Amino acid sequence: MKKIALGVAVALSLIFKVNEASAVAPTSQCRYTSDTKVVSGIKYVCLYYKGKSTWISVPKIKLSKINQYEKTKLKAYNEIRKQISNTEPKNIKLKFFISDNFPKDLRAKYIAQINLATRAYDQFFAPETPMNVYFQTEKDEAFIDATPILFRQKQDFADFLNYFGQNNRTHQVVGLAATFSEYTGKTEGHTGVLASSRTNGKNVTFYSEQVVPHEYFHVVQDYFKYKRDQVGYPGGRDEYETNYRPIFREGSANTISTALAMDSFESYLLFYRALVSENKGEGAWPPFNTLTNKSNVVSTLKLMELTSNDSAIGFTQFVLGSLVFEWLIAQYGFDAYKKLIYNQSLNINFEDNLKLSLGIDSNQLYNLSANHVLQAFKIKK
Ligand SMILES: [Zn+2]
Repeated sequence: MKKIALGVAVALSLIFKVNEASAVAPTSQCRYTSDTKVVSGIKYVCLYYKGKSTWISVPKIKLSKINQYEKTKLKAYNEIRKQISNTEPKNIKLKFFISDNFPKDLRAKYIAQINLATRAYDQFFAPETPMNVYFQTEKDEAFIDATPILFRQKQDFADFLNYFGQNNRTHQVVGLAATFSEYTGKTEGHTGVLASSRTNGKNVTFYSEQVVPHEYFHVVQDYFKYKRDQVGYPGGRDEYETNYRPIFREGSANTISTALAMDSFESYLLFYRALVSENKGEGAWPPFNTLTNKSNVVSTLKLMELTSNDSAIGFTQFVLGSLVFEWLIAQYGFDAYKKLIYNQSLNINFEDNLKLSLGIDSNQLYNLSANHVLQAFKIKK
C-alpha cells in the first residue's frame, strides 16, 4: 500500500511540474484591453491595440531577488496595506444603496472592498460620519434622478448609462459618486460605482478592480477640503488644480486604491505593468514616449500640473501620479503622505502644502521621483 501511495505522490508532483513548465501565455484574442485570464494559476492581463492581443503576466516573486524599482513598490504596498486596521471601524457609518439589478458577484466583491477600505480610511474621519455607498446600473436611472447627490453629477456618467443600455462597454465599471458634501442640510460622504446590469466579475477589466476604493478615497480627500469647496473656485479648474494638483488628486487616489485592491504583491506589480504598457508606444500620449531620461520625466510632470496646459491630459494623471505618490509613500512613509491630506484644510495651494508637509518643493518632488517613473517605463510590452 505504501508503495502505491508514494507512486501516486510522485506522479502528482510530476504532473504539477509539467503544468508549471508548460504554463504559456494565452494565444487567444482578448475581448478588450485589460481583459484577464488565469492559466495554470498564473494571472494574465491583455493589452489590445489595433487588433493585436498581447497577454502579460508577472512570475512568482522571490522577495530576496527584487530590484530597486520593485523594492520601492513593495515598501509602498506594505505601508498602505498596514493602514488596514484589525479593529472594527469606529468613525465611518456605512449605508449601502445597492440596486437589485447590480451583478451579484460584483456586489459581494465590492462590499468586501468597501469594508476593507473602511478599515484603512476610518482613521481620517470624526466619529459618526455617515458614508453612503451606491452600486447602481443603467436600469436604475429613476433612482439616480431621485437622489440629488447622484443627479448632480449625472453628466459625468451619463455616457455610460447609454453605453450599458445598448450593451456596449459592459466590461467597464465607472465612478458614480465620490464626494464629501452637504445636501439636505447634513454633511455626508458619498461613494459608489455604476456597472452594467448584464456584466459579472469575469467580464470586467483588471483596471476596474481598484475603482471602488479609488472613488471612496476621494471622500477622504474631500473631507479635508470641504470648507474650501463651500467657498467655491471662481478661477475655475485652474484654481482647483493649483490647490489639488491632478497627480495628487487622481494619481495618489490610484496609489492607495491599487494597493488596497490587489491582494498579492504579484497582482500589484501586474497592475502597474499593464497600466504603463497600455500608456506607451504607438497611440500613447506623446510625452509618455519621451520618458527615457530624467529631465523629460520632470518636464512631463510640470506639463501635467494643469489640465489647461494640454487638452490630452486626462488619463495621464493616473499613470504618472500613481507612480510619483507610490515613490513618495515608500520614501517618506504613509504618515507623511497623510499630512498632505490633512493640510488641504489650511486652504493653501499644493505647492505650499508640499513645503509645509514634507519640506520639499515640486521640483524636488519631480526630480527625486523621476528615477522611479523611468524604471516603470523601461518595462517591455
Ligand atoms: Zn478619481
